[in-house]
Amino acid sequence: MPNCENCGQKWPWKTVVKNTMKFTNKAKCPYCEKTQYLKPKSRKLTAIFSYIPTLLIIALTLILDLDGWGIFLLAAALMIVFLGLYPFMTKLSNDDQMPT
Ligand SMILES: [Zn+2]
Repeated sequence: MPNCENCGQKWPWKTVVKNTMKFTNKAKCPYCEKTQYLKPKSRKLTAIFSYIPTLLIIALTLILDLDGWGIFLLAAALMIVFLGLYPFMTKLSNDDQMPT
């Protein structure tokens, strides 16, 4: 779980997921109210997060011979799993520095 860079408090899982679902990397610390930026721990993780779900969906669709609904449910299930894991793979920062 990420720690606030300003006050050092550990953020609850719920707070991180809520902000991830808002598609924003900016969030206010629930403890010290300072704006923090969510960033992935490393560039490699960002790449894994953007490619693995897509590859898994394509691979499983071919292997399991899924139809429209199967693909939809599979994508939804994968999204929930990745969203649930995401807070464990993020860090908080005082400044908005995009990984380069
Ligand atoms: Zn804080």
